Amino acid sequence: MTAFARQDLATAKRIVVKVGSSSISGDASWRIDMLVDAIVEARSRGQEIILVSSGAIATAVSLMDLGTGKPSDLATQQAAAAVGQNVLLWRWQSSLDRFGVLAGQVLLTLSDLQNPTPRSNARRAIDRMLTLGVLPIVNENDTVATHEIRFGDNDRLSALVAHLMKADALVLLSDISALYTAPPDREGSRPIDTIGAHDDLREFEFGGKVVNSVGTGGAATKATAGRLAQEHGVGALVTSADNIGEALAGHHVGTWFAPAETHPKTEAIGIILQDDEHEEHA
Ligand code: GLU
Repeated sequence: MTAFARQDLATAKRIVVKVGSSSISGDASWRIDMLVDAIVEARSRGQEIILVSSGAIATAVSLMDLGTGKPSDLATQQAAAAVGQNVLLWRWQSSLDRFGVLAGQVLLTLSDLQNPTPRSNARRAIDRMLTLGVLPIVNENDTVATHEIRFGDNDRLSALVAHLMKADALVLLSDISALYTAPPDREGSRPIDTIGAHDDLREFEFGGKVVNSVGTGGAATKATAGRLAQEHGVGALVTSADNIGEALAGHHVGTWFAPAETHPKTEAIGIILQDDEHEEHA
């Protein structure tokens, strides 16, 4: 069997698509319709899409009187997420209404994915949503997550969801068309086409995790999530939200993390990934 390649996205059975806060909140909320158009088109080709959407806190920040930027204290972040998640799902649903598609909200915590019973419950529910033609929309359950027990960023969450759901591929959408060898404005920096499962990521300069007024992310968290996915046999594509149509159609865009042919079933980046075969009766 040949390894799953970027062009195989066009015929992949199951894809996790992750969208970041900055792509869909504030002035960018118009992009939700464009993303839904591409997701619905992929579904019409018979593909199962699981969406991981950030943007709860960012949506609330633009609606509530919280001063400028993301609240810094935990209780206000949790309260903002409670308000924003509601509006965020409503925005996705309003756009999906154009096609008569229902969204199903899935809010997960790190401990849900570490514990066999909630983990297998989440998997079963998402599986059933897909069978029923519902679009699962996943986010971190920010209202109960504290700093110590957070996924930290939704890039990582999306890689874990891709593993949980045995997805064929993960598409990480961002505001840049690809990962670059160094900060894109640096002279000599160039887009990275492919990262093999055994390539040393230290040869690139991705910078630190970006925590800004809308969310957590940047090239570093994309690279970490792409590596996590590929190490577990799931190919990952990093590209811009505006490229979603091309990405899902298997065009040659973005940075491709080629899946490892042999992969571990255990520890990776601070979380034990369970061997799902042993969880069916949990
Ligand atoms: N879960 C957070 C939210 O919806 C975003 C986390 C992230 O930016 O990765 O606001």
